[in-house]
Amino acid sequence: MHISQRLTSIPVSATLGVDRRAKALAASGADVISFCVGEPDFPIPAEAAASAVNAVNAGNMKYTDASGTRELKEAVCSHLLGEYGAEYDPSGIVITTGAKYACYAAVCALCDPGDEVILPAPYWTSYVHLIRLAGAVPVVIECPPENGFKLTGELLSGHITDRTRAIIINNPVNPTGSVYSRQELLDVCGTAADRDLTIISDEIYSSFTFTDEPFTSVVSLSNDIKEHAVLISGMSKCYAMTGWRIGYIAAPPELAKAVSAMLSHTTGSPCTVGQAAAVEALRGDGSMTKAMTDEFRLRRDLICRLADKAGIRYARPDGAFYLFIDVREHLKEGFGSAELALDLLEKEHVACVPCDDFGCPGFLRLSYTLSRPRIEEGMDRINRYLKEL
Ligand code: PLP
Repeated sequence: MHISQRLTSIPVSATLGVDRRAKALAASGADVISFCVGEPDFPIPAEAAASAVNAVNAGNMKYTDASGTRELKEAVCSHLLGEYGAEYDPSGIVITTGAKYACYAAVCALCDPGDEVILPAPYWTSYVHLIRLAGAVPVVIECPPENGFKLTGELLSGHITDRTRAIIINNPVNPTGSVYSRQELLDVCGTAADRDLTIISDEIYSSFTFTDEPFTSVVSLSNDIKEHAVLISGMSKCYAMTGWRIGYIAAPPELAKAVSAMLSHTTGSPCTVGQAAAVEALRGDGSMTKAMTDEFRLRRDLICRLADKAGIRYARPDGAFYLFIDVREHLKEGFGSAELALDLLEKEHVACVPCDDFGCPGFLRLSYTLSRPRIEEGMDRINRYLKEL
């Protein structure tokens, strides 16, 4: 069967290799510790679960509008107003089947074939592929570790061309756990807005920050920046609702309209029961989100302490739930971070994500979405492995 050029050009990811082998080892009875999983190990908020059950009992399970229910759009508007003081009308909100599809739909809406989207590296691996699938061209900017791997207005300016349509900012950042301060965001987004670029701001980890300064949403920076922004978020991380597949876009109405038309011919309406659950999660008191943030902060402190003790080099994360470790000193010709991750898995039964697919070979991403004793055990094993290399 003929498979399109577009799809055959998507490489098999290095993460998949680790994931498959980890599952095979676990199935054969090995005690595998996985730092790979990008989802919180917490239950969903009780009010969200109750709302889903009510929706099922009431038979509320048919299609909704392709862009989501009015009720959920209004809950998103109240959330954005309450959290960031950002005013949106429901006509600027689109509910999507996960935030990942929201990113893809936003790029499709903004770019013609050959248009460029700027992507700071390290980046979440899906961005590069969804940009290509949309027919656009990713322009990767390597962001130096000295600045916490974050983009600056100056770096951005040097990469803007006549074809640049948008930049993608992810804050807090997957895979580094870096968090942009208000000042840093003003610098990057001010530069983008001045050059009339659209800022696609993926804020899916927004509640998980451990800094003294509160999290800043791009849409709270200025009216001009808000007019240039497509905010993307969802229920997967901060409400632990990964399997419910509810994301959203907040944007100027013309973009929301274009995306809604696309959804009506691709995904159709997002899961109805999931939308009912999301309404109550957003209206809730946020106690589950706060409990997760507190626990992730403790785990962040723990994993950093363990890495310090072992002499492992890493970038101290201020948000999300990832530790980004530097293993370049252990690599040689033919033995890169992907090979190291597989070797570590074979010898110590610890699974980590090699960041070759995240625009940053030589680094591993460790997701600390597992209990503190398991984190300790996993870090002991990593330490033993690296010492013996
Ligand atoms: N954006 C980022 C930066 C992510 O890391 C992820 C998941 O890992 C997503 C979006 C996907 O979110 P969703 O589950 O809502 O599709």
